[in-house]
Amino acid sequence: MSATLIDGKAFAERTRERIARDVTRLKAEKGVVPGLAVVLVGDDPASRVYVASKERQAREAGFHSVTYRLSGDVAEAEVLKTIADLNADPAIHGILVQLPLPEGIDSWKVILAIDPDKDVDGFHPVNAGRLSIGLPGPVPCTPKGCMMLLEDTLGDISGKSALVIGRSTIVGKPMAMLLLAANATVTIAHSRTRNLAELGRQADILVAAVGKPHFVQGDWIKPGAVVLDVGINRLDPTEEYPKGRLVGDVDFEAARAVAGAITPVPGGIGPMTIACLLDNTLAACQARLETGSE
Ligand code: NAD
Repeated sequence: MSATLIDGKAFAERTRERIARDVTRLKAEKGVVPGLAVVLVGDDPASRVYVASKERQAREAGFHSVTYRLSGDVAEAEVLKTIADLNADPAIHGILVQLPLPEGIDSWKVILAIDPDKDVDGFHPVNAGRLSIGLPGPVPCTPKGCMMLLEDTLGDISGKSALVIGRSTIVGKPMAMLLLAANATVTIAHSRTRNLAELGRQADILVAAVGKPHFVQGDWIKPGAVVLDVGINRLDPTEEYPKGRLVGDVDFEAARAVAGAITPVPGGIGPMTIACLLDNTLAACQARLETGSE
């Protein structure tokens, strides 16, 4: 058996097209343009690439998109002032601070400064709380993208057993909350978990968010399971891949022979993250219109 490939790239493209249509309609009917502000501190090369993609895709979808590029040695107070200005700016519906922040800047202090209604990354404790008790609010983009692909692949996941490997606040924990909200029976595994292979073999849904190439082995996977590989790892350069090949956390070829469906890396979960960021920003704009504060 060879697993069906879950094409996150195509799904993300369709999602962005739907968002662009909604943005056009909002502009025409309400005269409102969703605004996304991205704050980049320092010059981490990977962050610069991510931010450039976010800016480009936001513009392509018709958003008002602004990026604040602050130098790596900026004072924390200056970052907080930028956030305060964006909180007060009526043209901005979503604020994203690109992580990681340079040493000397307290990431939690910065995240806590974002107006929860503009927190389109869904990292603010108010939004983590909303997610955990089932209230609507922005949901972290990567797990949200995972759920969209999962529901598209499986439909109803009620009663299915799910294993989430990784417990970060960005991926693992919110992923587990979303699966629980969709009535899956969820196990969260982490660096101290002992019987990972055994847990994997019981899971109808396996989500790997670890950050270790080829970590999940083929014989950890239940035949027919859906495997979502969140990991993005760059291997050492070779002649064939002079920049280093990108791989996920799952031994893809071995897993593909056992699983029912699997996301590739690249082209699986990765493209869904920005699509969900745009979706969260559009939703924040619509929510403001509904409360009459637009
Ligand atoms: P993280 O380092 O914050 O968390 C990794 C988790 O893996 C931890 O909770 C840890 O307990 C767990 N872990 C480590 N070793 C383990 C082991 N031996 N057994 C079981 N669990 C173990 O990482 P993160 O931010 O959650 O990211 C995870 C991966 O996902 C990374 O490769 C990252 O690049 C990728 N990622 C991708 C996207 C995307 O857009 N596709 C977004 C965010 C993160």
